[in-house]
Amino acid sequence: MLMSRLYAPTLKEDPGEAELASHRLLLRAGFIRKQAAGLYTYLPLAWRSLKKIEAIVRDEMDAAGAQELLMPIMVDAQLWHQSGRYDAYGPELMRVSDRHDREFVLGPTHEETVTDLVKDEISSYRQLPLNLYHIQDKFRDEMRPRFGLIRGREFIMKDGYSFDADQAGLEKSYHTMKDAYASVCERCGIRALPVVADSGQIGGDTSVEFMALADAGEAAIVFCPQCDYAADDEAASTTLPIVEGPASEDILRVATPGAGSIAEVTEFFGIPASATRKALALIDGDGRPAIAIIPGDRELNEVKAERVFGDYHLMNDEELEDAGLIKGFIGPVGLPEDLRLVCDESLHQSHYWICGANERDYHLTGVQPGRDFEPEMWADLSTVKADDPCPHCGHPLVGARGIEVSQVFQLGTKYSEAMGATFMDRDGRERPLVMGCYGIGISRTLAAAVEQHNDDQGIIWPVSIAPYEVALIPLDPHKEPCERAWKALFDELLEAGIETIVDDRDERPGVKFADNDLMGFPYQIILGKRGLAQGVVEVKDRRSGERVDVALDQAANYVAGLV
Ligand code: ATP
Ligand code: MG
Ligand code: MG
Ligand code: MG
Repeated sequence: MLMSRLYAPTLKEDPGEAELASHRLLLRAGFIRKQAAGLYTYLPLAWRSLKKIEAIVRDEMDAAGAQELLMPIMVDAQLWHQSGRYDAYGPELMRVSDRHDREFVLGPTHEETVTDLVKDEISSYRQLPLNLYHIQDKFRDEMRPRFGLIRGREFIMKDGYSFDADQAGLEKSYHTMKDAYASVCERCGIRALPVVADSGQIGGDTSVEFMALADAGEAAIVFCPQCDYAADDEAASTTLPIVEGPASEDILRVATPGAGSIAEVTEFFGIPASATRKALALIDGDGRPAIAIIPGDRELNEVKAERVFGDYHLMNDEELEDAGLIKGFIGPVGLPEDLRLVCDESLHQSHYWICGANERDYHLTGVQPGRDFEPEMWADLSTVKADDPCPHCGHPLVGARGIEVSQVFQLGTKYSEAMGATFMDRDGRERPLVMGCYGIGISRTLAAAVEQHNDDQGIIWPVSIAPYEVALIPLDPHKEPCERAWKALFDELLEAGIETIVDDRDERPGVKFADNDLMGFPYQIILGKRGLAQGVVEVKDRRSGERVDVALDQAANYVAGLV
């Protein structure tokens, strides 16, 4: 590639709106451009890197026995009605209709689509396990799209779904995916920590998020330097005995008088057992439950509970609407004195908003998080901090921040039950498929890599996902002997399979060095007049800044050994 032809408009100044290094550098180096909030065009350099990330993902997925397909972005809203998520998902779900007024959604995730796809085809345990994935644009109407590619509205995700005959099968599929996910991070040059996202009463490790360690990350995590314990602060608040209050079983008993086990609770609420991964109960000073929430999925807005507890009750969607509340937000009829959190498991931090009211003793009428109260105020509710004792070994925990780049999740039978995706087991009994889901933010991974690999000069790409591995920088590209030298070397590099871009622009050396540093190609080969007179070129390692003189006729060999 010739840089004189490359469409990579760079910016001299830091763009004002960019708070994070990745956002700033991807804009400045001409990798992305914003079209509207949360909507970005990936320019040629970014697109090359994204394709490399995708290739790594495909390689790992295929090796793990998953099969790639491609499902449409638009999803028939009927499927979302069947799963119950059409109403429950909340305003993040982009709803559209066609010319015949038929309802569709822009898929924020594809559980419904894939369950519908297999439900009439999979009829026997002999067809299991099955693992399908695709790499597709997703749309989520995020409340606060920000940080460039990190929280976009349209973004690229690899999402995959496993189907097994039973829990044991699911666990096997899940662990295979978890291992593959760790490899994906490693191969993309991302330092990531697998953290327990949802400790789940239903058996330990049911969901893990891979958190790219970055000071600017939105997620607070804690990890133990002594054992392998790591959790995000949401999950951690569930596993650490920080919150005063009864043990989890008791909480559930409090929240659901007369019911103690998960199964009893779910029956009590009339929701499928598989849906119950997180439970939250708030009790007042006298131990009375103020609200109790059992979300149907990772998203709290999926709550379908409706129950009266003494003076307080949970509202269903209709009641919410009648009360003029924001859909998906549930509040107590009145906030009791000194409301205490006694949750044994946690909800996503953003969902703590539902627990807030703008004024005591009032409904949450018309409350808007952000406007009426700061989401941050609820951060107090997640109670795990650095220096708290590790629940496994007691060693003080270390705090860190991370960017969630991927997540693996044991779904269970939530979607298969709701959508009637069943099969005949070995004994001829009809059973719902047992599912897992696995997501990687492809475009977010690109940004996370930049977040981890940059310096004052710009991006420093890990070789595996660099748009070009080598930048060839002739200082006099259109003068002999420089011209003949770079053209010959360029041919050699291409022949050796090294992805090379040539800065053939008639720019001052300073401009070339700055741009190439900014764009972050891992190695630069600089062809200067003085060196060429002695038959040498300079090879610069972008990360260390080290420069080595190498004989011109050895240069291609030399960098081939580096990349
Ligand atoms: P977050 O907690 O950051 O909102 P999520 O848990 O809602 O993410 P998942 O439903 O687990 O996201 O989706 C799988 C992956 O898709 C995430 O791990 C993340 O890498 C990516 N992703 C999710 N939302 C976005 C977004 N708005 N922009 C870019 N990537 C995203
Ligand atoms: Mg989200
Ligand atoms: Mg998340
Ligand atoms: Mg997630």
